[in-house]
Amino acid sequence: MNKLILVTGGTGYIGSHTVVELMNEGFDVVIIDNLSNSEKSVLNGIAEITGRRPFFEQFDICDKKRLHDFFRIYKKLDSIIHFAAYKAVGESIEKPLMYYQNNLTSLMNLLEGMIEFKIPHFVFSSSATVYGQPDQLPVNEEAPFKTADSPYGNTKQIAEEIIRDTVNANDNLKAISLRYFNPIGAHSSALIGELPRGVPNNLVPFITQTAAGVRNELKIFGDDYNTPDGTAIRDYINVVDLAKAHVVSIKRMIEQKSKSDLEIFNLGTGKGSSVMEIVNAFEKSTGEKLNYKIVGKRAGDVESVYADITYANKELGWKAEIGLEETLLSAWNWEKYLRNKKR
Ligand code: NAD
Ligand code: UDP
Repeated sequence: MNKLILVTGGTGYIGSHTVVELMNEGFDVVIIDNLSNSEKSVLNGIAEITGRRPFFEQFDICDKKRLHDFFRIYKKLDSIIHFAAYKAVGESIEKPLMYYQNNLTSLMNLLEGMIEFKIPHFVFSSSATVYGQPDQLPVNEEAPFKTADSPYGNTKQIAEEIIRDTVNANDNLKAISLRYFNPIGAHSSALIGELPRGVPNNLVPFITQTAAGVRNELKIFGDDYNTPDGTAIRDYINVVDLAKAHVVSIKRMIEQKSKSDLEIFNLGTGKGSSVMEIVNAFEKSTGEKLNYKIVGKRAGDVESVYADITYANKELGWKAEIGLEETLLSAWNWEKYLRNKKR
């Protein structure tokens, strides 16, 4: 399929892996990214893996005039996958307006552009954070939103509502919102992966940096949760599996298989793993020993969340395929690649 897809945030972590999967399936891709949390060199990794270079435009999607100039040039866009957003929970508590401004203005600018320039298909990066601590596990797409723990989480809830209202008011617009659980790992080539700036917030980059000696120790946040080993449970999904779900979503809309104008899917493995299980699986798959210490709980953390993936399996025909140990090994190979590059 040589349709042209706009990927916002396409040099970022999940975006870059999705660009690779789209190009592998024959789609043409144009990326918009302002490089606020990524690097232009990611394009080299994408080109090395796919043998092709995506088009790249560096600017801020919040700049409406610039975005509309872009739409005037790229007339043949079929779909937009919208990854671009700020994503650090803690930072969003300190700088809420920066998060509302970036994450919501960018979304509204894109939706306005889609209406004006008649671009029919939209995929949105949502998050399991919309569920908070769910009343039932595994959590399915029908579960109600819980009050957001952070402005970041709130931007995802509000964004889904903005998208719903917009598709309801515009007959020719279809959208799919994908609620990611915990994306981890890197491409098997180790040519693209996550590039955390400063001290990582997420568990797996913290683990790989600790194993690489960049950090002295991993702090495990809490061992007195009501879980089998006392540490918190999440649903960790390989980033390449996650990327493939975006390709499937785009094809679903192109082939007019959507059941409604806005469809929502959980993207997880359906299996919860505790922090301790992740540490053990990392040590087993890489042969590296991790220096870790149990400390107090992190404010705002939920105890346990993992996905009911029945709906995504049934409707998208998609499921995660790469196992946890292989995924953690890919994260480690990427960390080693980064360290070698820095030498
Ligand atoms: P990332 O920071 O690696 O990628 C986001 C990209 O968007 C970056 O390259 C950044 O430079 C760009 N960007 C941000 N604001 C922009 C703007 N106004 N204009 C142009 N470019 C802009 O993040 P990621 O981990 O790849 O996440 C992608 C999406 O998935 C985000 O919407 C995030 O909220 C969502 N998500 C991520 C996770 C996760 O754990 N990584 C979990 C759930 C949902
Ligand atoms: N976590 C941890 N130490 C860290 C980072 C994370 O113990 O240095 C735990 C965290 O408390 C949570 C799990 O690992 O239970 C996943 O955290 P992450 O920030 O990656 O994802 P999220 O909390 O957003 O689901």
